[in-house]
Amino acid sequence: MKKSLAFFLALFIFAGCLPSHAAGLVWNPEDGVILSGNPDSKKIALTFDDGPHPSKTDKILDLLAEYQIHATFFVIGQNVAAYPEVVRREIKEGHEIGNHTYSHKSLYRCQKETVEKEIISTEEILIDKTGCVPRVFRPPEGAYTCDILDVAGRMNYDVILWTIDTRDWAKASTDQIVSTVLKKVKNGSIILMHDFTVSGTHTLDALKILIPKLLDMGYEFVTVSELIQ
Ligand SMILES: [Zn+2]
Repeated sequence: MKKSLAFFLALFIFAGCLPSHAAGLVWNPEDGVILSGNPDSKKIALTFDDGPHPSKTDKILDLLAEYQIHATFFVIGQNVAAYPEVVRREIKEGHEIGNHTYSHKSLYRCQKETVEKEIISTEEILIDKTGCVPRVFRPPEGAYTCDILDVAGRMNYDVILWTIDTRDWAKASTDQIVSTVLKKVKNGSIILMHDFTVSGTHTLDALKILIPKLLDMGYEFVTVSELIQ
């Protein structure tokens, strides 16, 4: 997946159209690319990409329900088509749904028309199957171009990246995920995790340790939209 590599490559190539990143800012509503929320508030957001999945997502939802906390799920349109009942559960239990494209294409390699199609068809399937209209978008691999920002902006999306990459997608161990988050967490953190990957993750086990720990540290878990209000 090489998310980090693609992310920094994209930043390097397109730095000219991304003054917020060039300046090192983490919150710039003008271009809509968001890496974190308000640093003055002890709120953080868990985000889960690449679902829904009928069993793996459900286990994460069970855990979040146990602690009565809400997260944001950046769903893939074709998975929504296959498992709409999981997304309906996410919505019913107060979680936020984000758009993560229809087929998880590397959008930065795509023509603008493909970018539009990937975002629109995900929105359409979400509306059709759940009635939800997503307002946050995360490009696959966190890689983006001016075209992607333009399309997402015109469709009224905030483009959400992350503050902390847990590398659960790269099969980071439970201990590695826990220590990465505890080392880097700060007010306004957006934490990147996955509710589904083909090769499996230690995300659920890490969450069982992290959630009570972060609550003890005084953090409040909110959705991304609540975090960036
Ligand atoms: Zn993804």
